Amino acid sequence: MPTRAIVVHYHELWLKGRNRFFFLNRLAEALKRSLEGLAIDRIDRPGDRILVWLGEGADTAEALQRIERVLGVAYFAPAQTVERDLDAICAAAWDEMKDERFATFAVRAKRSDKSFPYRSSEIERAVGAYLLARLREAGRDARVNLRSPDRTCRVEVTPGPVLVYARKISGPGGLPAKTGGKMVCLLSGGFDSAVAAYKLMKRGGHLVFVHFYGTGAQPGESSIHVARELTRQLTPYQLTANLFLVPFEPIQREIVRYAPEDTRVLLYRRMMLRIAAAFAERIRALALVTGDSLGQVASQTLENMVAVDRAVPLTVFRPLVGDDKQEIIALAQRIGTYDISSEPFHDCCPVFLPRSPALRATAEELDRAEAGLDIPALVRQGLETATVERFRLVNGRVERVDRKSQKLAPSAAAEPQPDSSPDSNEVPAPKA
Ligand code: ATP
Ligand code: MG
Repeated sequence: MPTRAIVVHYHELWLKGRNRFFFLNRLAEALKRSLEGLAIDRIDRPGDRILVWLGEGADTAEALQRIERVLGVAYFAPAQTVERDLDAICAAAWDEMKDERFATFAVRAKRSDKSFPYRSSEIERAVGAYLLARLREAGRDARVNLRSPDRTCRVEVTPGPVLVYARKISGPGGLPAKTGGKMVCLLSGGFDSAVAAYKLMKRGGHLVFVHFYGTGAQPGESSIHVARELTRQLTPYQLTANLFLVPFEPIQREIVRYAPEDTRVLLYRRMMLRIAAAFAERIRALALVTGDSLGQVASQTLENMVAVDRAVPLTVFRPLVGDDKQEIIALAQRIGTYDISSEPFHDCCPVFLPRSPALRATAEELDRAEAGLDIPALVRQGLETATVERFRLVNGRVERVDRKSQKLAPSAAAEPQPDSSPDSNEVPAPKA
């Protein structure tokens, strides 16, 4: 029996009711996919936890790093698995604690297998006394503090093995990947939309990204690489991701030609939403997502957001609507999108920017402003000129898995993974 494992705990909230197994299966699946390529013996579920059994030569540090990005994980820890025997538990506890630095400590035990002859409190006392004695022996001056210990040694007597661990790590929380349904996210290269996407991924949503790019960029300045890197950075959270790239400048030129100057930006947004909605329809996504935050810029006043939304029948989610920029930036830093969004790029929106944009447009005004445009033709043009890039987590790294990159990534091509992704088979080849 292997003796090293990683114990993974989830929040109990979503465990109520009949969906329990659906969520747990998705969480176990996400763990399995995230740990792919590492020497994992098996993943099982003794009681209310998931146990990842590490095989010979497994890279524990790498496994821990990967689990940090598995949504639905409340906390996790490298653990020893030991015999159902108090002496063995004490020895493992010392092993876990001896290299840790702390002035105060506690032992917490949970006995979900009631056939184990000691109660939780008895285990805690016995292991605590043992640790105290060993610490004294080692000349260390540590005390027990049950209220707020520097370090806690945990013992879980499960229906499977007994687990002992002291290095508990916080997970991202939330709900597991692919439990919340599919949405289309309008991904610019800025900070906000990537963070908005993450927030809904964290609720189990699966996001398909659409990025609109300008063509007037200098070589190397395009916003495409930024959108691509953001998609890559976000892929581990949802295991797979598709990115649609839409050349937007020809559409902007039409808007500039026919519409009043002060409504331009709002009309760009409306066209973006319409094209995103057309993608959503093709891939059976139920909602759109943007990174708008109330009052952040002129196009994001309440009136303007409402007027823009009228362009599409779909619900538009704005998970950052009530967030301050500081909160958004802090989250961007945590999920690793901050540096990518900080890169300079050619943003299509400021092109032909009006000197004084409308602050309080109504849907009717925007309808009038668009009267000269052939909207269905522009939406069709957006779909027809779009390209798609597909990304997937393979052996802990994000790889392009469309035809072009399979050549670049022979390892991914050689060992195709069982595909349970909602992206599969459903990407539109734009209809003429
Ligand atoms: P971000 O930081 O995400 O770019 P922002 O504060 O700069 O947001 P805007 O540029 O006004 O705000 O864009 C508002 C929202 O519209 C973005 O969060 C994004 O969802 C969408 N959006 C804007 N530009 C693009 C684009 N080029 N491609 C796709 N979506 C876009
Ligand atoms: Mg922007």
